Amino acid sequence: MMHTRNYIGGIWCESELGEWSANENPARPGETVGLVARSTEADVRRAVDAAAEAWAAWRDLPGAKRGEVLAAAARVLEERADVIAETMTREMGKTFAEARGEVMRGSAILKFYGGEGERANGDHIPPADGKSLLYTRRIPLGVVGLITPWNFPVAIPVWKLAPALIYGNTVVLKPAGNASVTAGLLVEALADAGVPAGVLNLVHGSGSVAGSAMLEHPRLAAVSFTGSNAVGKEIAVKASSRGIKYQLEMGGKNAVIVMEDADLDRAADLVVSGSMKSTGQKCTATSKVIVMRAVTEAFTEKLLERLRKIRVGDGMDPNTYFGPLATRSAQVSVLAHIRKAQEEGAVLLLGGCAPSGDGCFVEPTLFAGVTPAMSIAREEIFGPVLALMEADSLGEAIAMANDTDFGLSAAIFTSSLSSAMTFVSRIEAGMVKVNAETAGVEYQAPFGGLKQSSSNSREQGRAAMEFFTNIQTISLSI
Ligand code: NAD
Repeated sequence: MMHTRNYIGGIWCESELGEWSANENPARPGETVGLVARSTEADVRRAVDAAAEAWAAWRDLPGAKRGEVLAAAARVLEERADVIAETMTREMGKTFAEARGEVMRGSAILKFYGGEGERANGDHIPPADGKSLLYTRRIPLGVVGLITPWNFPVAIPVWKLAPALIYGNTVVLKPAGNASVTAGLLVEALADAGVPAGVLNLVHGSGSVAGSAMLEHPRLAAVSFTGSNAVGKEIAVKASSRGIKYQLEMGGKNAVIVMEDADLDRAADLVVSGSMKSTGQKCTATSKVIVMRAVTEAFTEKLLERLRKIRVGDGMDPNTYFGPLATRSAQVSVLAHIRKAQEEGAVLLLGGCAPSGDGCFVEPTLFAGVTPAMSIAREEIFGPVLALMEADSLGEAIAMANDTDFGLSAAIFTSSLSSAMTFVSRIEAGMVKVNAETAGVEYQAPFGGLKQSSSNSREQGRAAMEFFTNIQTISLSI
């Protein structure tokens, strides 16, 4: 049985009270994947203290040297991709192919930020007197807390910790409880690759205890959070009351518009993968598809044809298209959303229930006749459920797409440049796709949303430097 311990100041340790939580395989409840340390507030305080102690030496290392450590970490992660991916599949349910792809993406992100060590520059500004030297430098923040969700248990921690580390910060990572065994393997890979003691620390435990304790520590300089809106808002209140820099990536209700002139087969392929891959448990998952009335019937047929072929099952089976929901409570929540949609008058065309057996599965589900007032058109569901809506014009479709508190990702399928550009200029989303899936974007490009999906700063690429550094302005006269 795997025991996933905390990693504090370079030492793997049990929690203060020696208590553990069991993480089970959502495809086979009863099968324990690992036992995870249940931390107390004191454990979290020790982790922040260790990161504070390690900061000066890490900060003073040249960026290129920090980059060498990240490059080594990328190699170790790649070597361990199969083991980490299998653990991820067994712990939170996504298919092995997706899990392995995620680990490889984690490795690519580490390589990308490894190179940033030599590029993190400030600006030279022409001084008014024409003689002195006026310039800015990017300086690290100090100890950064990372609070992450379970749906990308490698990629999300990596796309936070890699920029945090390369720009000279030290880190305390608090991963989601039900993805902690995978997070433990991730941190082990980085530690074995040579990240110095105290520079990267890991504490497991509940959000209400471990997450909250981190925000209360006086040495915490910043917190980067990805997760639900409810928790994000709570963190924003606490962080601003303490003057701590914060970054939030939260939920989405991502729409796709299908115009009459679209390639309907391509649109159907990408709407199905966008809504069903990872069991719909992506912040960028396609959640509603708004189709021009003239092609609704033809498009619905194409969707049904593809959705009927989907195989739901254990993510370790190579024939599985999507695995279980990550937990029993996630399954219960998705089934409740489905019932509510039916009560509100949406027409169930496919799926809508859990297949027989113990696993936390839900069938691929398609609703038609969805109107803007229905909760299924507005709320994040986080499951394999797609709502189909109809519109008579591009303007009406964009209004329907924007009619939500979220603004993460959105897509249009069309062969008209004019429709595409109208969509780009009016859609309220941080990531906009034309003839592509509402997934995230490549790791070298900024990732984030508008409205209640994100706070202002962006993740990924060079945009991450804005959050993980401060600007220092220097005026130098001789
Ligand atoms: P969650 O908000 O329940 O948990 C996220 C993290 O916050 C976990 O580590 C949890 O332990 C911690 N936490 C919980 N309560 C806390 C508290 N009071 N103080 C401090 N930390 C606390 O989210 P989840 O269920 O793990 O993830 C699903 C959500 O994440 C969805 O809403 C999804 O859209 C969102 N998400 C967003 C993005 C994005 O980039 N926008 C990416 C992935 C997931």
